[in-house]
Amino acid sequence: MKTNPTTPPWDPVVAALEAWRKALREEPGLGETPEGPESEEPAVSTVAEQYKRDPWAILVSTIISLRTKDAVTLTVSQALLQKAPNPASLAALSEEALARLLYPAGFYRTKAGNLKKIATILMEKYHHQVPATMEELLALPGVGRKTANLVLTEAFDLDGICVDIHVHRISNRLGWVSSANPEQTEAALRAVLPRQYWKGINSLLVLYGQRICRPVSPFCSRCVIHSYCERRGVARSR
Ligand code: SF4
Repeated sequence: MKTNPTTPPWDPVVAALEAWRKALREEPGLGETPEGPESEEPAVSTVAEQYKRDPWAILVSTIISLRTKDAVTLTVSQALLQKAPNPASLAALSEEALARLLYPAGFYRTKAGNLKKIATILMEKYHHQVPATMEELLALPGVGRKTANLVLTEAFDLDGICVDIHVHRISNRLGWVSSANPEQTEAALRAVLPRQYWKGINSLLVLYGQRICRPVSPFCSRCVIHSYCERRGVARSR
């Protein structure tokens, strides 16, 4: 893993992405993909707002979001949180009932098992609360760095960089980092990205990755940060 020695002018890059997101809110069809419209905000951010930054709601929806589309994450999170608004009510559900609530989220049976274990751990070890440190979150079943970072930033307003597959891909294409996996990207971004952008970079790049910097054949002709991009590894674009 190595970081790019010539770091980009962060302020105009982030400003361009924020302006693009603002335009998207005002004109939701902008940048619509052939697969149809995506939500305007990542589902976990929507849940975070709806549930007033409740750490339990954010932890649950982040776990649901793994390998699951935003629209499904949102509806499944809302249905589950209605039945299980806290660890005790979730622990009271059978694993079978939980799996039914989680369907059609990806890996719904595994997530049902993990959520039930997590609810019990929170009740027994943390007085029914979600812990607020990376170390404690990573010790929970099924919680990786992406989930832990999202909970720390969205629920506790702490500094963290949540790197999912979109952030990993776009950071490498832009030339910000040169890394093999999201864990390496997180470490590299922590070294180069100014701290004031840590929290917001995930929701900006996730949305951008869904709409513009697509995994296969990105829409470089519509890209608002094209002039800052090294387009590393991009063989085909639109
Ligand atoms: S120029 Fe293309 S590869 Fe670079 S960020 Fe924009 S869409 Fe992605």
